[in-house]
Amino acid sequence: MVKPSGARYLMGSAMPKECDTSPLLVTTSWDDGHPADLRVADLLAKHEASGTFYIPNMNAEGRPVMQRTEIRRLGEHQFRHVEIGGHTRDHVSLTELAPDAAAQQLISNKQWLEDLLGREVIGFAYVRGHHNRTVRRLVRDAGFRYARTVTNLSDAAGPDCYQIPTTMQFFPHTDNIYIRNYLSGGHSLRRLALLRAVLGKRGLQDRLYRAAELCLRRGGCFHIWGHPWELNEYDLWDELDRLLAHLRHLHAQFVTNGAFWTHASAPATPELVP
Ligand SMILES: [Zn+2]
Repeated sequence: MVKPSGARYLMGSAMPKECDTSPLLVTTSWDDGHPADLRVADLLAKHEASGTFYIPNMNAEGRPVMQRTEIRRLGEHQFRHVEIGGHTRDHVSLTELAPDAAAQQLISNKQWLEDLLGREVIGFAYVRGHHNRTVRRLVRDAGFRYARTVTNLSDAAGPDCYQIPTTMQFFPHTDNIYIRNYLSGGHSLRRLALLRAVLGKRGLQDRLYRAAELCLRRGGCFHIWGHPWELNEYDLWDELDRLLAHLRHLHAQFVTNGAFWTHASAPATPELVP
């Protein structure tokens, strides 16, 4: 689906001049439904930030997924700041399945989450970022209204609501990973400037700060995504706490992924729903 022509906010070169003075728009997203999601939600609430959590029913790779009561608690806890999206039934790459099996993964996951939460689930994140034209059509046909990729180094929603990019993964990647992500995500001067900004610093925190400040200067959106289980494995909790405090210091306006897309795809409006 192509963004309506009225959507000029957050679209790179078409940025209206008044956005030069806009606050930094920040959205965060967290994959896999690990029990550590609840700790991320608490940290987000501490900083009055928002998060979108993409949750599978189970994880075929063996990683734990929250119990039903925990997912319900996440959905209700700080509801204003939390959105829950789909991530397939079994946490599987949809490009490796026949279309019927892929559709079943999507529909089962969406219905299961909606029954659990008692509300519509509109967002989806591709497992391992894998998608193609058939998968994107299946995601749309299942009733999801947008889908997030793992393409980094973007400060905009992009033109396709089933290929929403991000700015950075909350993970201390090597330079090579950033360069490979840049090359696979498509060349643009705006992405290249973000790549240079990230590679010009050392360490996750300095790279995140530099990228956020560049997004702020350009009137773009800063979209961080990550795996809460990696925050445990790599002991990144203090760094996330500091990043959220820093974004507050920059007077960031936090929105969920769904609100981000709604904002980016609608004619400019003065108010955002967190
Ligand atoms: Zn995943």
